[in-house]
Amino acid sequence: MTKLVILGSANAVTSLHHENAHMVIIGTENTLLIDCPANPLVLLQKLGVQLEQISDLVLTHFHPDHVSGVPLFLMDLWLLNRKTPLHIHGLEYTLDRVEKMLELYNWNAWPGFYPLVFNRLPEREMVPVVERGEFHLFASPVSHLVPNIGLRIEFSKTNKAMAYSSDTEPCQQVIRLSRGVDVLVHEAAGNARGHTSPRQAGQVASQAEVKSLYLIHYPCWEVDPQPFITEAQETFAGRVNLAVDLLEIKF
Ligand SMILES: [Zn+2]
Repeated sequence: MTKLVILGSANAVTSLHHENAHMVIIGTENTLLIDCPANPLVLLQKLGVQLEQISDLVLTHFHPDHVSGVPLFLMDLWLLNRKTPLHIHGLEYTLDRVEKMLELYNWNAWPGFYPLVFNRLPEREMVPVVERGEFHLFASPVSHLVPNIGLRIEFSKTNKAMAYSSDTEPCQQVIRLSRGVDVLVHEAAGNARGHTSPRQAGQVASQAEVKSLYLIHYPCWEVDPQPFITEAQETFAGRVNLAVDLLEIKF
């Protein structure tokens, strides 16, 4: 069965049990990583993911707490003798910078490096990004401090769907992107420019008429995140949970 596993749930500041927000979709044939703030290799091993099955890496935006792990992760796959291509998806703004970051490491000179296929996405709503039979992924621009995308994933075997806001202010694009999904994973970094509070995440979930809301990218450095659930419940009548590290949701 296809599942989502939360690999990290923190905002930009991690704590002992909260890595920066990123996640993985594990299917029977393909595995898709969403963001790469740190090297996910050990977590993927713990989850029993076959590294050759990682077909896609989606990078939502070029902030360090979303892309810092990319060079080391890609290097480790190479050291572990990967041969299959890896598809890397993101906006032009994001991928231009990721490629520059890799160039600083002179990765083009690493002998026998497996093919990287960069897929630059146009900045419009509901762009089809990945179609792998068991899941389809779409992206829409959201409202953050740099160009960023939110994601919708539809699971073809079960007709279920999820959405991930990524970092964003409350915006209509996320409401449209997540319309009617079973699971909305929404950031809850706080009421600040480019971000959303738990209460506002609840409003978005209500407006999009989703079935359940999982808060992610919340403050956890010397903060107890549990009250964020109650805060979101003030504006959303459905089920509210904290996305925590290694939480699995089956689709
Ligand atoms: Zn950000």
